[in-house]
Amino acid sequence: MTLRKSWVESANDVACPFPLNNLPYGVFSTNRLEPRCGVAIGDMILDLCAAEEAGQLQLAEAPVFDVPYWNDVMELGPEGWQILRDRIEALLAEGSTDQAAVAPLLVPMQDARMHMPFVVAEFTDFYAGRHHAENVGTMFRGADNALPANWLHIPIGYNGRASTVVVSGTDILRPNGQTRAPDAEKPSFGPCARLDFELELGAIVGSASQMGAPVSVAQADEMIFGYVLLNDWSARDIQAWEYQPLGPFQAKAFATSISPWIVTRAALEPFRTQGPDRDTPLLPYLEHSAPMFYDIDLSVTLQTEDGPTCTLTRTNSKALYYAAAQQIAHHASSGCAMTPGDLIGSGTISGAQVHERGSMLELSWGGETPVDIGDGQTRSFLLDGDTVTLHGTAKGKDYQIGFGTCTGTIRPAPIFP
Ligand code: MN
Repeated sequence: MTLRKSWVESANDVACPFPLNNLPYGVFSTNRLEPRCGVAIGDMILDLCAAEEAGQLQLAEAPVFDVPYWNDVMELGPEGWQILRDRIEALLAEGSTDQAAVAPLLVPMQDARMHMPFVVAEFTDFYAGRHHAENVGTMFRGADNALPANWLHIPIGYNGRASTVVVSGTDILRPNGQTRAPDAEKPSFGPCARLDFELELGAIVGSASQMGAPVSVAQADEMIFGYVLLNDWSARDIQAWEYQPLGPFQAKAFATSISPWIVTRAALEPFRTQGPDRDTPLLPYLEHSAPMFYDIDLSVTLQTEDGPTCTLTRTNSKALYYAAAQQIAHHASSGCAMTPGDLIGSGTISGAQVHERGSMLELSWGGETPVDIGDGQTRSFLLDGDTVTLHGTAKGKDYQIGFGTCTGTIRPAPIFP
């Protein structure tokens, strides 16, 4: 795959995250425009609500872009998604006969404010990074019991909170919660002292499955509308006290951030790769031979309130052990219904090396080895005023598929009434 040229000049730059090959979907507003659906092209956004009104996009009998979310488009199904993508590509491609009509519908990205791109139906977070699971397991349970007995057989997950998924740029309040220090006799209540990020990919389910009707891994893959960067903010001290035996609850329920642009499955097609070598075979319902993983470079930067920006980690989504399609197939295997707008967190993505770890818990090894962040400062966990930003890019030969950024700044915990 090579760069497909657009008449929007900025989209043809080799370093542009949003070339014609990408066309990610978001919801934006400006000083004069109410929140609406748009697609990123170069340093511009094509106003799809206006394009639909102008008769440039006819997807269904009724308009689908007069609402500030993508769920209605998801309901059109994979065939409708492809028709939309083909049509937008035709409108924006170099030499398009529609250029004169479409050019006035472009909005400079710098004038836009981004919003949640879809209504999150439900949020499920998995735990599919093997290095992450081994690291955390070693810290919590010791090296001999690092991987739980089920880990190589089941994509482990928990049902999270859709209510507190927020778009990149939203401030994150330090959560209050119940903790118990290792040497303390009694638990106490107050602001989290071990606030952390988790570097994840989010898969967005676009097609429904019915209650009681399992789906194959291949079918699950077809159900995926697209992907975003996802930061599963985590309160490690609250987690350590509450997680046994039912898993994370309040430690993960206070906020989850996602990047504002949905990168479609179609845009990522050229970056599919095979999964990891498996020493333990999977049960047949989770097996799939086609490549289901993606080669996406990921990184996390930290900016303190008045200090420089430093890169905390660099890794790649290839490090995952279970793909989103396997997680969705597993989710539906019991008869659980999947809904358009379901958000599926991959689990923290850590590589094998120290500088590839996807959380502060791992980077500072539970606070034992604080991370040097430059300017004479260190961090074990996040402080108020810290800004954490996730970055993701799939790199082609002469173009890239960028995710934009997923950022959030930590603010002091609310006073408990
Ligand atoms: Mn997580």
